[in-house]
Order: sequence, then C-alpha cells, then structure tokens
Amino acid sequence: MRCRLEGGVLELVQGDITLQQVDAIVNAANRRLAGGGGVDGAIHRRGGSAIMEETRRRYPEGCPTGQAVITAAGELPSRFVIHAVGPVWRGGTHGEPALLASAYRHCLALAVANDCRSIAFPSLSTGAYRYPVSRAARTALAAVIEFLEEREAPELVRFVLFDEATYRAYAGALGENTGVSGSGRSRGPRSSG
Ligand code: ADP
Repeated sequence: MRCRLEGGVLELVQGDITLQQVDAIVNAANRRLAGGGGVDGAIHRRGGSAIMEETRRRYPEGCPTGQAVITAAGELPSRFVIHAVGPVWRGGTHGEPALLASAYRHCLALAVANDCRSIAFPSLSTGAYRYPVSRAARTALAAVIEFLEEREAPELVRFVLFDEATYRAYAGALGENTGVSGSGRSRGPRSSG
C-alpha cells in the first residue's frame, strides 16, 4: 500500500526489515542498546558484530525511551541503522503515546540530518513491549505524516510489518489518517493518488 502525501511517499509492506534496500532501517532497541529478540536480534544477527561494537563505543550510556541513536549498518543492505527506544506498554497512562510518537520523530530527524532519502520502520513497541497494535499504528502514522508535511523529507518512509495482523492494523490506521483505502488510492485533501 502506497500513499503520496504532500511531503513524501508513505508505504506499508509486509516483510522483514533487515532485507530493506533503503538508506536507513530502524531497530526496535532497548534503553541499554544491549541487543535482544525480535527486530533487534534479527538486525544484529544479519548485520554482524560491527553494529554492536559501534553502539557500545559511541553510546555507552544507552538511549532514553522516546529517543534514538544512529550507527552504520554493517553487512545489511542499508547505510544506517537507527536504534529507537519505544515505550513498554503499561496500560496507556504512563505517557506511552507521546513517547512512541517521540521515538518516530527522533528517527526521522536523524535520517534527515544524515541525508537519508529513504527510511524503513518496524512496528516499534508492539512485540516484546506489548503496545496494542492498532493504537500504536495510529500514533506511529500520525507522527510520520505530521513530520513529512512539516519537513517534506525524507522522500520515502516505509513501514515493514512482519505479520499480516500488524499489516492490517497499519492499513486500517492509514485509512483513518488520510482517507486512503486498501487500494492505495487517496481522497484526502493532503494527498494525491
Ligand atoms: P519491541 O520490543 O519494541 O516491542 P519487537 O522487536 O519485540 O520490538 O517487535 C516489534 C514488532 O516487530 C513486532 O510486530 C514483531 O513481530 C516485528 N518483527 C520481528 N522481527 C521483525 C523483522 N525481522 N522485520 C520486521 N518486523 C519484525
């Protein structure tokens, strides 16, 4: 599913983030940047040990929730990995939506600052961190759309959703946000076919 907005192109695909040929892929990291399962495990496995070496050297303090840091991408097809720390879901009353939106914004800002024209996100926080996927999808897409409209960069933002249920949740939320339906055509005032 693809949607042309005022500031750039937004894509939703089902797939594996580690295979994306974009300038930067985003890792669903933890505050210690210590590696783990899910997206994090897949990125370090495929990208090789250089990514963790650089992370330890440059960011020994880790990264606060709602923020992100950037490294080279080792053996992955992208140029950079942006390590983002989304919130753990604790019922929704601990600032989770603001922290999740902030994580996405930090990633986009780092991508633009490093001249990335394309970036791919996984669904931050909806795996081990248990954020309900439809709520996360709404917050994630709203944050990205707002950034694109404001900054008109990067040119391409792709969400790479691992399983079909997650893909469907994002497709539904994109419809709510932009008026785009499953066919990928849009009828919102800020988007064109
Ligand atoms: P978090 O700890 O932020 O919740 P996880 O990595 O546990 O992050 O999960 C986030 C989402 O990424 C989940 O929907 C999970 O299914 C998905 N995921 C896991 N592996 C991959 C992968 N290789 N590519 C894209 N998405 C993935």
